[in-house]
Amino acid sequence: MKLKIPKNIQEIVPYTPGHSLNDLEQQYGITDAIKLASNENPWGPSPKVFQAIEGAMMSLHRYPDGSSYDLVSAISKHFGVTPEEVVLGNGSSEIIDFLVKAFVSSGDEVITSQPSFLLYQKCVQVKGGSNRLIPLKEMRHDLREILATITSKTRIIFIDNPNNPTGSCVNPVELYSFFSNVPEHVIVVLDEAYVDFMKTDLQVDIYSLIRNCEGRCPVVSLRTFSKVYGLSGLRVGFALMPKEIADCLHKVRQPFNMNCIAQAAAEVALADTAHHGEIVARTRDSREKLIETLNTLGCTAYPSQTNFILVNVLGRADTLYGNMLKKGVLIRALRSYGFPTCIRVTVGTEQENLRLVSALSESLKELDYVS
Ligand SMILES: *Cc1c(COP(=O)(O)O)cnc(C)c1O
Repeated sequence: MKLKIPKNIQEIVPYTPGHSLNDLEQQYGITDAIKLASNENPWGPSPKVFQAIEGAMMSLHRYPDGSSYDLVSAISKHFGVTPEEVVLGNGSSEIIDFLVKAFVSSGDEVITSQPSFLLYQKCVQVKGGSNRLIPLKEMRHDLREILATITSKTRIIFIDNPNNPTGSCVNPVELYSFFSNVPEHVIVVLDEAYVDFMKTDLQVDIYSLIRNCEGRCPVVSLRTFSKVYGLSGLRVGFALMPKEIADCLHKVRQPFNMNCIAQAAAEVALADTAHHGEIVARTRDSREKLIETLNTLGCTAYPSQTNFILVNVLGRADTLYGNMLKKGVLIRALRSYGFPTCIRVTVGTEQENLRLVSALSESLKELDYVS
């Protein structure tokens, strides 16, 4: 073949999805492996979702509603915004792609923290944009340095709050002051994939940020059904933003990007506020217990406002990852995020957390990371 692969595409490092549970069980002959690698909700979605999916199956032979009218209405009511301020995506990942497609051209700059969610950078590379990476400072977004990096070429700033993979978040007062200092030509995307697990007084008032943006930067809040709502496999994300930005994203999205099953399921999941509350409470409770237990093993577990925990294992995390795999516990090693001695573990069910703790405790000793 004589392909002419553009330089920006050549430079992209392919995403290597971690082992799947099936791979793992086949490779090591294990039967009860657990996955704590992708920050999923281990208890699953609202049980009402399954009925909704059955109903939606009756219209599989029809194209879905391209405007996702019912889901958009439900989201706009739930968050007190208008339907024109809501955009849906096949996962919030797709909305990141829309934002970059619509606003970043070759040579434009996008600012993100290093490390943060890896997808931001990749979408920018595909468009031939230039990534400006700002190291975290004391494990948190360095807002001052981000401000200092803005130029006339800056189009978007991505801030995952809380941050993946550290689990930390920015103080809301600092964040408001940051927004008021970002110039009007720059869109700030606040990726709130884990917002539900945060302390309430750390959450920002998205409504006022979307609405009152005269004289300062416009703000987009990115949300997902993949985490607290337990629908990772269906791929549903949404974002709240000023109408002017939403109009642009609708121009670049495909007309039927949201499938009918996903639309029906997400609407029901959103309505089940009791289930949502229960998942949030269980996660926070398990997280605090797990952090405490992990810290007794000799490694360092960092505080978290999410459903995952960053753990410094004080030795090569890649090696520990392999060791834990053999014990049937799938976690994430963070070398690609620039933390070669850290792992990220998702808060699991009580049983899964026990498995994690016992496997990690064994591995740390087998590898001589702790005495
Ligand atoms: C998990 C996650 C998402 C959500 O991705 P989806 O495409 O909605 O599944 C977005 N941002 C961050 C920081 C995440 O960790």
